[in-house]
Amino acid sequence: MAKKMQAAYVKVPFQFEVREVPIPEVREGWVLVKVEACGVCGTDLHYANVLAEDWQPFGHEVAGVVVEVGPGVYTVKEGDKVALESASFCGHCANCRNGRVDLCNKAPNFWSNESLGFAEYILAPKECLVPFDGLSFEVASLAEPLGVALDVVYTADIALGNEVLVLGLGAIALMAIPLVRMEGASRIYGANRSGGRRMDVARRFGADEVFSTTETPLDQYPFRKGLDRAVVAAAPATLPEVMPLMNFGGIIAYIGIEYGPRATISFDANDFHFNKLQLRASHASPALYFPTCLQLLKDGHVDGEAVVSHVRPLAQIAETMEMIRDCREDVLKVVITP
Ligand SMILES: [Zn+2]
Ligand SMILES: [Zn+2]
Repeated sequence: MAKKMQAAYVKVPFQFEVREVPIPEVREGWVLVKVEACGVCGTDLHYANVLAEDWQPFGHEVAGVVVEVGPGVYTVKEGDKVALESASFCGHCANCRNGRVDLCNKAPNFWSNESLGFAEYILAPKECLVPFDGLSFEVASLAEPLGVALDVVYTADIALGNEVLVLGLGAIALMAIPLVRMEGASRIYGANRSGGRRMDVARRFGADEVFSTTETPLDQYPFRKGLDRAVVAAAPATLPEVMPLMNFGGIIAYIGIEYGPRATISFDANDFHFNKLQLRASHASPALYFPTCLQLLKDGHVDGEAVVSHVRPLAQIAETMEMIRDCREDVLKVVITP
């Protein structure tokens, strides 16, 4: 009889269950990983609120230990600590061979598994495993969202001396702040609707000025020289507010998900044209840059400990999700440990 483990499932509206299910069996090209840490992502809230019409497993920001490797896996071995890419590239499609691995989503992935990262074990394809050492599992699980932050910062194409707005100070935007600095920004403005812990971390992470858009709306804030770049990790409705703040030739990098009527926005296309603006989407799938991200965490360029605000056991997944939903200003990244 197969051995059992605990695994969490989600269903709309905001329902959660921890069930006893079989530990997945390894197969060719796949690896069984004991989950040591799995971060809660904004997407997990979307599953609970909108997406999970039927019960489904969740959790995709995983760090753990390899416990069993299937045939044909040579890149990791039992006992290795690994962070898991939430999607990988295949290495042999036309996009990959043309040097654009960032446009490939053809590699095997764990999304159709019976259980995912909020569980004691996860089955993962060999393509997505990135070995690491010298980091706690909680901090290593930040490699995935830090990769998202790095993707949006690369998308913003920051040049030396740029004046940059980082809007919507969740975990991703907060981790983007030190990256924006390293890319050469001369001034970084961190803005968020609510205040609290996020503002403090934004300052600690190097934002030169931090403000609440509830207290000072964006169009009233005294930006020193306008904005050359904006990294927007906030609701779509903020984009038409950011556009008029941009300097000629400015670039807005956007990451955000919204469902329903609030997903649709409108803006003045003439201003967009005559100001020579660029609006660019960042969607970090496949998940890239793990080696860089793990090194940034290891070297302390991004202070992972400051980003992880809460660590909670798997058994408390329901209460934890409610806590994230209800008290946003004190919650940064929450990590579940089975
Ligand atoms: Zn995520
Ligand atoms: Zn490919």
